[in-house]
Amino acid sequence: MNVLSPSRRVVVIGGVAGGASCAARLRRLDEFADITIVERGPDVSFANCGLPYHIGGEIRDRDALSIQTPASLQAMLNLRVLALTEATHIDRNARTVTVKSVKTGEERLLPYDQLVLAPGAAPLRPPLPGIEHPQILSLRSLEDMDRIKLALHHISSVLVIGAGFIGLEMAEQLAHLKKKVHLVELQPQILPLLDAEMVRPMENELRRHHVDLRLGQAVASFSAEPDNHVTAVLSNGERLTVGAVILSIGVRPESALAKQAGLALTPRGHVVVSEYMQTSDPLIYAVGDVCATPDPLSGGVSNVPLGGPANRQGRTCADHMVRGPSALPYPGSIGTAIVRVFHLAAGITGLSEKRLRELARPYRSTTVTGSSHASYYPGSQKITLKVLWDPETGRVLGAQSYGGDGVDKRLDVLATALRGKLTIDDLVHLEMSYAPPFGSAKDIVNIAGFAATNQRDGLLHNVDTVPDGALLLDVRATATATQEPMAGATNIPLPLLRKQLASLDPNQVVVTVCNFGKTGYFAARVLAQHRYTALTLTGGVHGHPELLKHKDDDAS
Ligand code: FAD
Repeated sequence: MNVLSPSRRVVVIGGVAGGASCAARLRRLDEFADITIVERGPDVSFANCGLPYHIGGEIRDRDALSIQTPASLQAMLNLRVLALTEATHIDRNARTVTVKSVKTGEERLLPYDQLVLAPGAAPLRPPLPGIEHPQILSLRSLEDMDRIKLALHHISSVLVIGAGFIGLEMAEQLAHLKKKVHLVELQPQILPLLDAEMVRPMENELRRHHVDLRLGQAVASFSAEPDNHVTAVLSNGERLTVGAVILSIGVRPESALAKQAGLALTPRGHVVVSEYMQTSDPLIYAVGDVCATPDPLSGGVSNVPLGGPANRQGRTCADHMVRGPSALPYPGSIGTAIVRVFHLAAGITGLSEKRLRELARPYRSTTVTGSSHASYYPGSQKITLKVLWDPETGRVLGAQSYGGDGVDKRLDVLATALRGKLTIDDLVHLEMSYAPPFGSAKDIVNIAGFAATNQRDGLLHNVDTVPDGALLLDVRATATATQEPMAGATNIPLPLLRKQLASLDPNQVVVTVCNFGKTGYFAARVLAQHRYTALTLTGGVHGHPELLKHKDDDAS
């Protein structure tokens, strides 16, 4: 192992997720290195991901978010922390970083032998008219959190702009605080990384909790109102007057220093790094939200601005500094993320259908709905899982899930499947832990494998829309079909189907539909073996609520 000599100096710019992980790991590998962390803010190593939950009151103790302090990093790890100090210039020839005290403006030079860039990404703040209003805020640091908490005093309404992961967490927490929440999203869906049908239930969950969700709308400008209120003018001309605005429309990498130092950047401004986190200058590393790593899914490079990648990249970087090429390389990020909104969670791992289409990559899609654990054991909840897979090899390319419980477990299994290059055949026989309170003898992950292999083997023919001229055959129980009728459907419950086959036209394509897709599949198997052309509607009525007849339809 190449232990650094006592004279070797390592400077780390940015002291939170990636920077602090890197410095701590480096110390564990090399007791004698001279390690300095330069951090612009007053805090290091704090829990950014917990910030929304302190605002909403779920995490009561503010101190719980400060995982380390400059003093504890010094005491535990012998790390020199220069807080409230900004790195302003890198001289690659002289191997120095210019740093400036945020309080006094005093500058000094820090020599380095190896430099780590971990400055993260800053919330986007578009140059809209009126954006400088003091009640228009964003959330990244503990100080931002304190400002938002203060701004929420004595106001009753908040506009959250952007329905990505942080925007949704903020909307939920603000609703917990009994604020009137308006949530505006430019795209026609929330969580634009996921496929549209996988977020519709969460959109309904937001509406059910009185969040005023406005999709496909942009904010065009802001103007000041009395009492420190703000009016936001939307692209459709509507005006929303609120007590505060939270901007959560995404982040941009803080790569100005890297640019100034002449390091290679992607067109979107991320620092390009190798599998060992080395930039185009081998003495300078970059980790976390600022960097783009080789993308194992698309073959290009990608940036996944999340806590897990930043922490693990920090570790890789430290390992490479000390162990060189024998260090474990960073395998790239596959983009595994999850969010909870009230009683529903939704998340993704790997490629979405949208992204596969952009990449012009062939895929097949399988969606199943089952129970979070044995349905007969109290408390089980519905969970929907969508798996995307390669039609040639069956390899899992991506997965998305939503439900009340157990979404995290299934996404993590699928993320592992992706990393392990598993196929839909492997999903069939994954041996998941099972006892009634935890799962089912056939877990929904296995069921996704069953359904996907059935599709591949020609046993299941799924469709997302009913072809012209086809018969829509509702195979739900008559009581359900009467209570929730489907427009244009013929109801023959599955138990009666074999007896009533003669009533069906053998020359007409039949599309079977049930609640979630499973009974529809069973019915299609009966029909196919009696030589009918039978297709099954993906996800059943649950996936196609537009098929349900509304009570007033008949009246008109
Ligand atoms: P950061 O953790 O942002 O740290 C960068 C630090 O560098 C900052 O403190 C900054 O002040 C400092 N800095 C920047 N420039 C300079 C300079 N020139 N000189 C000195 N210091 C500088 N991820 C998840 O996986 N799950 C979640 O649930 C989740 N929730 C989140 C919720 C919120 C509100 C936020 C803001 C982020 C959340 N994230 C979540 C994302 C995750 O926190 C980030 O991906 C991660 O912190 C990135 O780590 P980083 O080290 O690259 O940057």
